[in-house]
Amino acid sequence: MQDVAIIGSGPAGLTAAIYSCRSGLKTTVIDGMTPGGQLMITTEVDNYPGFPEGILGPELMQRFRAQAERFGTKFLSGEISGVDLDGPPFRLTAGKDIIETRTVIIATGSSSRWLGLESEKRLRGKGVSTCATCDGFFFTDREIAVVGGGDSAIEEAAFLTRFAKKVTMVHRRDKLRASQAMQDKAAGNQKIFFEWDSVVEDILDSSQNKVTALVLRNVKTGKTKQLPVEGVFVAIGHIPATSVFKGKIDLDDKGYIKTTGATRTSVPGVFAAGDVCDPRYKQAVSAAGSGCMAAIDVFKYLEEQDG
Ligand code: NAP
Repeated sequence: MQDVAIIGSGPAGLTAAIYSCRSGLKTTVIDGMTPGGQLMITTEVDNYPGFPEGILGPELMQRFRAQAERFGTKFLSGEISGVDLDGPPFRLTAGKDIIETRTVIIATGSSSRWLGLESEKRLRGKGVSTCATCDGFFFTDREIAVVGGGDSAIEEAAFLTRFAKKVTMVHRRDKLRASQAMQDKAAGNQKIFFEWDSVVEDILDSSQNKVTALVLRNVKTGKTKQLPVEGVFVAIGHIPATSVFKGKIDLDDKGYIKTTGATRTSVPGVFAAGDVCDPRYKQAVSAAGSGCMAAIDVFKYLEEQDG
């Protein structure tokens, strides 16, 4: 019987593990599909405090993990295939293992939605990105594109204009989904341009191993054209990793876990941290912070249970 089982091993999960182990709680982390989370597919991380020269995403996560191990975290590799939250105790199934635990912290994160193009996959990290905060700096004085018409796309585009010479927003309709305030922000920015009613058919040029242009198709006229850019940011939403919890815990209409008091979910004894319950900030440092809060909430909850 574990005191806490943490599902997910990104910044939220591993920070929760560090804090819960240091509180003397028996802690198991179930790694998940991508051990280390989204930072494992990132290169330079320049905005994580404490690393003034920057650090590679995978190395940062290795350090998180080593720190969690140092305080006695047990790790189980694999994904959760089933959850029984009619507890406590709660039962989690991971492959052949069944973990019994008094509390759960869900830190399964979310993943960026991609366009699904082959060229997008090949050029990821070579001009194709989903994180302006992480990669914007590499596009100083370049012409780039942002795909999407929601708040995130505008936020990314506006942020990127600090570096880029010109940012073209490519949206599949002729109206933005973004809030009026964000639309005003885009309209007032002289570096932001729009390609309306347009979908990205291809990203050139895989043979050169870099982004040189987008092939756009206008959905109204059917015409295609090339938009020369040196980078493209895909900002078409995120997909929270909550499918296994559907019907067992309250989720919002986009599938994010609903929390109250920062980390409490609709099931007492089950907590959530990081991107899986955060459609807004989605940063490694904010995820780590919420992992810390979840572990403290677990400790307080167990103290109350034990009188
Ligand atoms: P979102 O609101 O779901 O918008 C996604 C955008 O991507 C939409 O414009 C959508 O087009 C487009 N899209 C989706 N799939 C696509 C595809 N396959 N190809 C091309 N385009 C595609 O997602 P979000 O912008 O990430 O925002 C998520 C939530 O966070 C929202 O509630 C938002 O308000 C909030 N948020 C708020 C702020 C802020 O207030 N500062 C900042 C960021 C996010 P359609 O419009 O045609 O569906």
